[in-house]
Amino acid sequence: MSGTAQQEQRILIVDDKSLNIQVLNELLNNDYHVFFSTSGVDALERIPGLKPDLILLDIMMPDMDGYEVCRRLKADPESADIPVIFITAMTEEDNEAEGLNLGAVDYITKPFNPAIVRLRVKNQLELKRQRDLLSQLSLLDSLTGIANRRSFDEYLEREWRRATRTGSLVGLIMLDIDYFKNYNDTYGHAIGDECLKAVAKSVETALERPADFAARYGGEEFACVLPETDLQGAVVIAEHIKAAVRRLDIPHSSSQIAPYVTVSIGVSVMLPSSGLQPKALIEAADLMLYDAKHKGRNRISA
Ligand code: GH3
Ligand code: MG
Ligand code: MG
Repeated sequence: MSGTAQQEQRILIVDDKSLNIQVLNELLNNDYHVFFSTSGVDALERIPGLKPDLILLDIMMPDMDGYEVCRRLKADPESADIPVIFITAMTEEDNEAEGLNLGAVDYITKPFNPAIVRLRVKNQLELKRQRDLLSQLSLLDSLTGIANRRSFDEYLEREWRRATRTGSLVGLIMLDIDYFKNYNDTYGHAIGDECLKAVAKSVETALERPADFAARYGGEEFACVLPETDLQGAVVIAEHIKAAVRRLDIPHSSSQIAPYVTVSIGVSVMLPSSGLQPKALIEAADLMLYDAKHKGRNRISA
C-alpha cells in the first residue's frame, strides 16, 4: 500500500484525557488523518459528517462511557460498519469480552506500546480498505440481496442509450417506505433491517418482464427501471408493488397513515433523446415521489 493511499484514511480518537490523545496522535499522524473528540457526545455528533475509517474509543469517560458510544454507533446503520478499537487500562477478561460483544474489533491497553498500537491500527485499516473495495465492486446490496445503487446507475444508463437508439420509452418507479424512522425507533434497527429485506423482495417479485430491474436506491428507498413501458403500464406495476407491500402486512404502530407498513411511489416515463440525460428521469420520478408524500403517503403519483 502506498503512503499516499494510507494518508486518506481517517481515524477518530475519542478520549477525555488530552494526554492520551496527544500520545496516540504522535504515533499515528504520519500515516493517517487523525481527528479527536474529548467526549462521547461530541464524537457521536461528529461521526456522520467525518465518516472515519476507524474509531479509537476510550472506555472510561465521564457522562457517556465508551460502551454506550459503541452501542449507539452499532445501532445506527450509517455508522454500524465503522470498526471500533477500545482503549482501556483495564485488563480483566470480562471487560474485554463486553467490548467485543458490542462489536468492537480489537483492544489497545494503556500504557501504550507504540509498536502494538501501530500494528493493530494498521491491521484494522487494511481490513476496512478491503471491505470498502469489495462493496464498491459489488453489484448487490449486502442487506437486501437485490441490486445496489451502483448497478442501478449502470443499468439505467444502458437502457437509456438503447432506448435513445430504438426510440422507445423508459419508465422509472421510485418508492420510499412511509414513516420508516418511526418504525426503527419503535421496533429497533434489526427489525427495521428485516422490514427492508421483505419490502425489497416484494418489489422484485412485483416486476413482470425480464428486462424490468429493481434496486435498493438508498436507505429505505427503492427504484425500478422499466424499459419499453408506457405510463399506464408503469402505473400498473407501481400498483402491484403497493399491493405486494400491503400483503406483507407488517405491523407499524407508529405510522401516521396506517397500522401496517406502507410505501409512497413516484412514477415517470420518458422518451430519451440525445439532449436528455437519465438524471432527468430520476428527477421526474423523485418529484412524483415527493408529491405522493405531500398528498398524504401510501399512494402513487405519476
Ligand atoms: P417519510 O414517510 O417522509 O419517508 O418519513 P421517513 O421516516 O421514512 O423518512 P426519513 O428519511 O426521515 O427516515 C428514513 C429512515 O430510514 C432513517 C434511517 O435510519 C432509516 N434507514 C436507512 N437505512 C437503513 C437501514 O439500512 N436499516 C434500517 N433499519 N434503517 C435504515
Ligand atoms: Mg421514508
Ligand atoms: Mg427516505
